[in-house]
Amino acid sequence: MCGIVGYIGDKNCLPILINGLKRLEYRGYDSAGIGIITNGDSVLIKNKGKVSVLEDRVGEMNLEAPLGIGHTRWATHGIPNETNAHPHTNEDKSLFLIHNGIIENYRTIKNELLKLGYEFASDTDTEVLVHLIDSFINRGNDLCKAVQLTLNEVIGTYGIAVIYKSEPDKVVVARKGSPLVVGLGENENFIASDVSALLAHTKQIIYLDDGELAVVSRDGYKVKTIADQEIEKEIHEISMTLEEIDKGGYTHFMLKEIMEQPDSVFNSMRGRLLFDEGDAKLGGLSDVTNRLINSERIIISACGTSWHAGLVAEYMLENIARLPAEVEYASEFRYRNPVINSNDTVIVISQSGETADTLAALREAKYRGALVLGVCNVVGSTIARESEAGVYIHAGPEIGVASTKAFTSQLIVLALITLLVARRKALSADEGKLIVNALRRLPEQISHILNLNSSIELLANEFKDANNFLYLGRGYNFPVALEGALKLKEISYIHAEGYPAAEMKHGPIALIDENLPVVFIATKDSTYEKVISNIEEVKARGGRLIAIASENDDEIDRLVNHTIKIPDTVEMLRPILTSIPLQLLAYHIAVKKGLNVDQPRNLAKSVTVE
Ligand code: GLU
Repeated sequence: MCGIVGYIGDKNCLPILINGLKRLEYRGYDSAGIGIITNGDSVLIKNKGKVSVLEDRVGEMNLEAPLGIGHTRWATHGIPNETNAHPHTNEDKSLFLIHNGIIENYRTIKNELLKLGYEFASDTDTEVLVHLIDSFINRGNDLCKAVQLTLNEVIGTYGIAVIYKSEPDKVVVARKGSPLVVGLGENENFIASDVSALLAHTKQIIYLDDGELAVVSRDGYKVKTIADQEIEKEIHEISMTLEEIDKGGYTHFMLKEIMEQPDSVFNSMRGRLLFDEGDAKLGGLSDVTNRLINSERIIISACGTSWHAGLVAEYMLENIARLPAEVEYASEFRYRNPVINSNDTVIVISQSGETADTLAALREAKYRGALVLGVCNVVGSTIARESEAGVYIHAGPEIGVASTKAFTSQLIVLALITLLVARRKALSADEGKLIVNALRRLPEQISHILNLNSSIELLANEFKDANNFLYLGRGYNFPVALEGALKLKEISYIHAEGYPAAEMKHGPIALIDENLPVVFIATKDSTYEKVISNIEEVKARGGRLIAIASENDDEIDRLVNHTIKIPDTVEMLRPILTSIPLQLLAYHIAVKKGLNVDQPRNLAKSVTVE
């Protein structure tokens, strides 16, 4: 789930490990640690809390080492404390191991090891790995073989890195279900769970696939399967730059990413609009376009914010492309024996491209013969590589844990997929052109909305002390209500619910009193009059009303306490505009509450555990 970084080479690994871990902080974590091997000595430093604490301790120790591994932990088994932090080690501290993921059968392995006399220091599932490797080394295996034998016994997910005092010329890494890359340098090599940790040093990257292991040394690397078959790997040149993953003068990544949306949305559609034909051009789908348009049904599977993007796409695909669509939480989809046919298309959406449940849904859908398309942000991610075809959203690196620009870019790509299908079905060129032109206007309209930042900040001041929030919308704006509520709870820890506005009467209306802020997404569309009736119902019960409304709507002002007026676009694209003021509202409320906006408690950026 969290961060892995490692180094072997001519330089001192410590600053490289610390800076690498800092690059991974955005993923959310609760403790950090480093293990190094230097001059026949092994040193372990770890602590609960921030990488900066680790950095200070390392600084005081004045250490140098050519080999080391570092970890940020997101606890799954055992509370966040120093003992449970990684690396984990064996009795004589000759082995260090870091792990992302979950070892599902750790209890069975632990019982066996206890019988052999092994003692456990931590409550983690991870610790069994290091003792099991130790036991295989004691039976005469070298480090690589011991790791292979260990992984043969393991059920679960892992990205691991291991170093061993008696073989100080290598780091052994392996992956199953948790990303790992090898970064190539000169007289040095690197390993990490995420390329952003390595960008300062190299752009030459090898992505490990599930079931693969790499032995990385100062001068080279060898990749094989866990079953010991050697593999040739392609070396990828990364185009991401360090500037792209810096804050660029903003106080938080989240604000930077919200403000970047005119550009990120533009980048998602760059080169993909056909103005004369009123159509979309998506290179990643060219080989499967026929299968896609002839699908009997589209199933969208995703988690969290991506699931909300999927809900918007359900409206788009049914309204515009006239294709039956349904949206499923990936975590439910994979376990409920879904009916999937070979003439279905399954679209999986994941910002990171590593979301464990979404990846499992993808594999299940593929297994059952559906066409599987991936919509991801991270280039080269597992979901992107395992999908049969797909479309990158090209939003640029998203570091803030609460997704903002990735959401709007997902909506762009889903709108383009809808357009591509619709133009080959019932949509005329003229209707297509209306959508293409509306897409083209979005970046400027988003800039206009972002100019409302200071008035939204004032609003945040007024509402920051509320204990609950209700978000209501209908049609295309119903998923926006869900997304607005999710943003607020993720970063401000205020309880918030999103509901279809008409459902309010079937329950949430009981909550309404003068303390409850209710946010209506009430743009002038096909459900506008109905939403106005819902606003009246809340008003009659004294709720504090905020409305996201259309620019030309003067009437709504007399009904609600606050309005945020936004430019108009075609109905299917409205969520791209209506979601942005809600991102800003959540952001400012969280900042005013003094919270860590970029790394909210308990959350991780890329959820690689089930
Ligand atoms: N399951 C391991 C633990 O709880 C690893 C967690 C992680 O991915 O950071 O320590």
